[in-house]
Amino acid sequence: QLPICDHTPRPYEGPTRDEVLAMRHQFVNPGVLTYYRDPLMIVEGNMQYLWDETGKRYLDGFAGIVTVSVGHCHPHVASAIRAQAGTLQHTTTIYLHPTIAQFAAKLASKMPTNEIGEKLDKTYFTNSGSEANEVAILMSREFTGNHDVIGLRNGYHGGTSLTMGLTSHGTWKFPANQSAGITHTHAGYCYRCPYGLEYPSCNLKCAHDIKSVIEYQTNGNIACFIGEPIQGVGGAVVPPPEYFKIVYDIVRQHGGLCIADEVQGGFGRTGKHYWSHQNWGVKPDLITMAKGIGNGAPLGGVTTTTPISQTMTKRIHFNTYGGNPISMASGLATMEVIDAEGIQENALNVGEHLKNGLLELQEKHPLIGDVRGMGLMIGVELVTDRESKNPAKQEAADLMEMTKQRGLILGKGGLHANTMRIKPPMCITKDDADFMLVTIDECLELIESR
Ligand code: PMP
Repeated sequence: QLPICDHTPRPYEGPTRDEVLAMRHQFVNPGVLTYYRDPLMIVEGNMQYLWDETGKRYLDGFAGIVTVSVGHCHPHVASAIRAQAGTLQHTTTIYLHPTIAQFAAKLASKMPTNEIGEKLDKTYFTNSGSEANEVAILMSREFTGNHDVIGLRNGYHGGTSLTMGLTSHGTWKFPANQSAGITHTHAGYCYRCPYGLEYPSCNLKCAHDIKSVIEYQTNGNIACFIGEPIQGVGGAVVPPPEYFKIVYDIVRQHGGLCIADEVQGGFGRTGKHYWSHQNWGVKPDLITMAKGIGNGAPLGGVTTTTPISQTMTKRIHFNTYGGNPISMASGLATMEVIDAEGIQENALNVGEHLKNGLLELQEKHPLIGDVRGMGLMIGVELVTDRESKNPAKQEAADLMEMTKQRGLILGKGGLHANTMRIKPPMCITKDDADFMLVTIDECLELIESR
């Protein structure tokens, strides 16, 4: 049984799901047919819950792809959006307006310094994570005068031409897309160690790999390294604690800047720290963000130091919607809620409770090969056989479908789409986590007994 919820959805009077499906030829959205065999239509959301057109309620374990950080239609965020929409909706970045300044100041208050103590307090606002990463790379190339960019295998950085090249999952790449000047190094993915080694006796061979990548595949001088401190689409892959420190040191020895892609891991999602890279004690030069920043408003950004940000003022570089007042209002209200409602602490506590419960399920279910993650960024990798670690692709697809029938929405990821990604709105309760555990347990039992 889903935990009690006091929100009553409005009677739904719009087109039926089948009518909407019949209109699919008019919009391009392949995910609708690949994510669930039987597409799901959502018509209303309230905090951690969603409703379909029949009034059926779901616990949202995926937060609109790790985006709705403080809850669907959170009252404070919704009212900030309404107020801004009734006052000033759009200006473009060629005029000043107050909300951009207020939001940039709020962001700056949460920002760390770089290696030499300079504050990262200048934000260039974008509409998405892909665009934020594009701009971060442009800034790095301009600032260093170098061209080569190093990304991580199993990483995801977006769907634009350049970021598609940075993304290192064959399934996300288009054959016709070629991105020059991009190379990939090994991620710290211990469960599938590329060398078949064990931590810590491996001596972090995966992290040191970047040295030979730079020496063999670039001219020795690079523009930047970009990595997700915990890989999101790749399946909540948590590297060994020393991994990023080793990589950042080598990158800097070759003239490169370090970019932390915080699109999924930022804004308290990993629990202990506001930014996921802080789990590793490293200091990036640029931080890119999107998703959880605006609780669903189309909003992204790159925050960096003054000298690096000045690369963008040498020429005319602006985007039409970056800093849009409605997005800014949404971002500001979201950050206020994170502070005021103990959202980060909740991510830490409920995340730990959920992960412990999943580790217990791992003892019971041979299908669970690995449980990993931090805070409310959790991955459960399914395998058909623990010895060979053969990805349980079909079983993962079945689990998605079966949990959906029982009122639980999960995400999936990893190279073989065999990792369940549990990244709910960060307002979920322990009761919600228990509902997830009971539901996953029941569904795995059914799958394993077939
Ligand atoms: N970086 C990471 C880590 C992401 O997970 C994503 C989206 N999944 C992106 C960048 C791209 O963001 P967007 O879809 O907003 O362009």
